[in-house]
Amino acid sequence: MKIALIAHDKKKNEMIELAKQYKDVLAEHELYATGTTGTLIMGETGLSIHRMKSGPLGGDQQIGAMLAEGNLDLILFLRDPLTAQPHEPDVSALLRLGDVQSIPLATNRESATVMLEAMKNGVYFD
Ligand code: PGA
Repeated sequence: MKIALIAHDKKKNEMIELAKQYKDVLAEHELYATGTTGTLIMGETGLSIHRMKSGPLGGDQQIGAMLAEGNLDLILFLRDPLTAQPHEPDVSALLRLGDVQSIPLATNRESATVMLEAMKNGVYFD
């Protein structure tokens, strides 16, 4: 599967913890991430990740373009709902496209954990 990983700044530590916890599961898939999120995960886990631009500089839109082309299967997007984001329109557009394509899209740690646990147990989303 092609999986996108995105975390807002205050959620990056949670994303790193998740990536460490589920490294073996994630390693079986083709991973994409926004710039800073990808750099941090690669540094902490050694996972191989295709990095887009940083989110505020267009990375969310690049992930959105992949979605629009039907080239993503799952998104783990740890959003910070309590901090204003300069690229909020891009975030909204990404979430909308996820629903347009009807792909699994977790927006918080617990939802992401459910999906990763399912994958660990052999469930594939397609
Ligand atoms: P970043 O982007 O991984 O480059 O920080 C995430 C975002 O804010 O969308």
